[in-house]
Amino acid sequence: MQFNFQDKVVVITGASRGIGKTIATRFAYSGAKVVLISRTKESLLAVQTEIESSGGVSLIQPFDVSSMKEFEESMKYVDSNFGKIDVLINNAGITKDNLILRMKENEWDDVLDINLKGVFNGIKSVTKPMMKARKGRIINISSVIGLIGNAGQSNYAAAKSGIFGLTKAAAKELGSRNITVNAVAPGYIITDMTGNLSESVKNELLKQIPLSKLGTTDDVANLVMFLASDEAEYITGQVFNVDGGMVM
Ligand code: NAP
Repeated sequence: MQFNFQDKVVVITGASRGIGKTIATRFAYSGAKVVLISRTKESLLAVQTEIESSGGVSLIQPFDVSSMKEFEESMKYVDSNFGKIDVLINNAGITKDNLILRMKENEWDDVLDINLKGVFNGIKSVTKPMMKARKGRIINISSVIGLIGNAGQSNYAAAKSGIFGLTKAAAKELGSRNITVNAVAPGYIITDMTGNLSESVKNELLKQIPLSKLGTTDDVANLVMFLASDEAEYITGQVFNVDGGMVM
């Protein structure tokens, strides 16, 4: 499907690599002005150079999504600079895996702060401009781990599961203003986050995936772009898996 996001303003967190980078470049190549967020300025500059060398428009905003103050200030700047915010994709996420018995307080707090509070901060920060425009699209990247859990990932599973409740509450709160809020739950996608899986773990995973392959960042971007498009205007408060049939 060919999407046209000409002159739409699309904000993507975790845009410096992996799923977020693919989403950002795909939107930019479809005409959107993209706002690239991550903590690392240098890696955002590299994505910006790639986008702009193909004629795309982008703005980099290096900050930590777990800071409500920084998220709000950044979105105020984006709104004043571009005049609107059409789409927010809350994609930034980390893992700090450990068994519950061994999990340190900071491993729990960091994952919840970035993966769940970061999503709330994003939603809160774009709500005003989207309500003013009486239109908006918010897409939160969760994980199938939020649906089925995983040993060693209690912090990650809790945060990703929390995104489902947050998505539905926000969809109910913002629906009357024509703002849709949906969640995407990827399965195993080939990125840096999954790059260190051993061959034996990968082979075990493949046995659980009916389509017998790991996903690509484009597989996730395809759904995100559809949900951000005008064609998805009657879809809100939903969770969509992109997982090769792993969870059904
Ligand atoms: P990744 O390659 O590790 O990229 C994560 C991105 O998030 C980077 O751009 C990173 O940039 C940014 N980020 C991390 N912490 C941040 C913070 N505090 N503030 C701002 N940006 C931050 O991960 P990925 O595999 O593309 O995953 C993207 C999303 O999909 C995550 O939410 C992940 O949980 C979810 N997901 C991934 C998979 C998978 O198989 N890969 C499966 C299910 C769900 P900096 O480090 O420079 O800040």
